[in-house]
Amino acid sequence: MRKESLSPWTLAPIAAVLAVGIGWASAAARATGPASAPAPGAAVFEVYAVRYATARGVPVSSLVAGADATRKIDIPFMFWVLKGPGGRNVLVDAGSYKGPAFESWKLADFVKPSAAIGKLGLAPGDVTDVIITHVHWDHVGGVDLFPAARVWIQRDEFTHYIDEAGKPRDPAIEADDAAMLATVKKGGRLTFVGGDAKEIIPGVTVYTGGKHTYASQYVGVRTASGTVVLASDSIYLYENLEKRLPLGLTLDQAADLRVQERVLRLASSPRLIVPGHDPAVFVRFPKPGNGVARIE
Ligand SMILES: [Zn+2]
Repeated sequence: MRKESLSPWTLAPIAAVLAVGIGWASAAARATGPASAPAPGAAVFEVYAVRYATARGVPVSSLVAGADATRKIDIPFMFWVLKGPGGRNVLVDAGSYKGPAFESWKLADFVKPSAAIGKLGLAPGDVTDVIITHVHWDHVGGVDLFPAARVWIQRDEFTHYIDEAGKPRDPAIEADDAAMLATVKKGGRLTFVGGDAKEIIPGVTVYTGGKHTYASQYVGVRTASGTVVLASDSIYLYENLEKRLPLGLTLDQAADLRVQERVLRLASSPRLIVPGHDPAVFVRFPKPGNGVARIE
């Protein structure tokens, strides 16, 4: 989320977008999904969505292109935890806890991400990996709370937004976040991912093509229930996916729709696609509760 995304705007090419969306809907219906059962012996993860804050009264039009400008919802700010074999604990994004953007949002129900993982029995030092889906403050600002973690980001995302001196090349990244990621890189904990469909950890594959930011990625995870797709902000709300509507904040609406079509093929069930800011995640997956949703 970005503050600027709150300003309502109208969607000019809505008719064209809808027409394309309908075409993809029927293509997705014909597509055969991957088998649900993982191969014997394959690494499987438990997947959890963890809410670390709530933003109240966000216009739906900032999330779903063309939505009625008067509609408002309370949205969770979340990150995701993958608990794997051998003590591998992977975060997908790391939330945020400080900085000008964080302060300006005046979030409710805030729990520091390093404390929120305590609900899953984890301490910050137990986190082995952090996969950054994109550089917006609410996803990346908490990376430095996890000092032992290897940090994964698309090379093109990093180099597009952060210069050699650790300064922002683009206002989509906060200056303090750019400096922090540059420090992580200097410390040797950053690994660049080079493009699409990379299985960076056994059972965890990242995908590009979404253009919420320059080189956003989303994550497919092998679980006992089949493949879960953590879309992060490549899909803000279930409504984007269900109505085939692009994001309220995107660099490329057609790319948003291609991501939606693709995640429907990647996930073992549409139910296992998790959007980045939808409060219904915690309704559809009510257990274990208290701001944690097990995706299964
Ligand atoms: Zn976000």
